[in-house]
Amino acid sequence: MTMRFFNTYSRKLEEFEPRDPTAGPISIYTCGPTVYSRAHIGNFRAYIFEDLLQRHLELRGYKVHRVMNITDVDDKTIRGAREAKVPLAKFTEQFKKAFFEDAETLRIKRADESPAATDQRYVDRMIDMIGELIARGLAYQADDKSVYFRINKFPNYGKLAHFDLTQLQSTGRVKHDEYDKEHIGDFALWKAWDEEDGDVKWDSPWGPGRPGWHIECSAMATALLGDQIDIHCGGVDNIFPHHEAEIAQSEGVTGKKFVRYWLHCAHLLVDGQKMAKSLGNFYTVPDILAKGYTGRELRYALLRVHYRVPLNFTWEGMKEARESLGRIDEWLARLQEKSQEATAERSTPINREQASNVQHPTQKFEEALDDDLNISAALGFLFESIRETNRAMDEDKLDAAPAKAWLDWWKRINTVLDLEPETKIVVPEEVTRLAEEREKVRRERNWKRSDELRDQVFALGWDIRDTKEGQKLTPRAGPG
Ligand SMILES: [Zn+2]
Repeated sequence: MTMRFFNTYSRKLEEFEPRDPTAGPISIYTCGPTVYSRAHIGNFRAYIFEDLLQRHLELRGYKVHRVMNITDVDDKTIRGAREAKVPLAKFTEQFKKAFFEDAETLRIKRADESPAATDQRYVDRMIDMIGELIARGLAYQADDKSVYFRINKFPNYGKLAHFDLTQLQSTGRVKHDEYDKEHIGDFALWKAWDEEDGDVKWDSPWGPGRPGWHIECSAMATALLGDQIDIHCGGVDNIFPHHEAEIAQSEGVTGKKFVRYWLHCAHLLVDGQKMAKSLGNFYTVPDILAKGYTGRELRYALLRVHYRVPLNFTWEGMKEARESLGRIDEWLARLQEKSQEATAERSTPINREQASNVQHPTQKFEEALDDDLNISAALGFLFESIRETNRAMDEDKLDAAPAKAWLDWWKRINTVLDLEPETKIVVPEEVTRLAEEREKVRRERNWKRSDELRDQVFALGWDIRDTKEGQKLTPRAGPG
């Protein structure tokens, strides 16, 4: 078994070789959320890709140590806290909590560690790294008191993004606050405190201020995973400047190659367009749940397209996800029933030659994932297997033993997919509210209003049944 991944650094598919088989688990660093608002489904597409990567490595017998940082100090979080008139930590806390809730809804495995940038031990490390970069001539303090990385002194700068530095000089207007820099591409390692920052500041040898976003990741990654990391992931929009800067800072300090494999997830589009609040096509996980879909359905919808291909999110796609999962559920129920049948009841033995392709699950699912996580091919194989085994069961050509083997196979691939039916049905808040109102108007014998409310609940994808114990809410089986 060989696994290969597309490395953004080389722009090639490369065979995966961990840094050192004796060095312990595969180390993975994934850039986490900036907690200034609720993460949107585009963010979660990248986190689901990273989840798939970890789970597949584990299926293949690797141990994984994954770190996902939380960016809880930057321009956006500071602005948000100022506008909300609350301390920064209080402001970011709600979005951290929401992030972990949404990740759980989508069945994304928790990283082994989720360091926060404001944790003093990482701030100390950021300051140490910046000091080291200055000592090596790779950084300087400008007249504005901020400290910048000197990209001209790092010849590999631009290699990850395949970016020509001379292009940077011709990008036209220079922002006012960037006049102090030696090169327009020099990025801030330490941002000197100004009034806008309020009480958000740390002491440093260069005066009060706060770290830049890029150094946060370099410090947390190397602190928790060492000087060299096996795999670093993120969305394509992280490549430049964020990941380029991470390389420059980390390698500038350690002198060692920072990352062996850079994997980047393509964008998520909504109805073919970039997601934007101004276009009214901006969705969070709770927005999708409020339409009557489950976390499992959204997980499937975000998982099913190869990570390097832009994923177009549509409501039609959500319906398809629901239908696909319905097919899996039906198939599992059939196999379950079949696996419990006594083989002795069969009057004529199965002709094994005839039905051999459905008698034994193969390795095709895993092999597709070995090939740069080709989930579309892996799912294609799953549904082909479902069709063929269903046909064999229709024709009574599949008995208990192979049915059991297919169930075991499902159990194995489901450690990667995690698409077990929801055990707990989560009723969206809006639906609960309408149902409660309906209960109230029924006590008042307002049947007309009761019916209207039932229709509204129906439109949100839920059925209400009136039973002796009161109303029962169930998600509608068919596509909403
Ligand atoms: Zn990062």
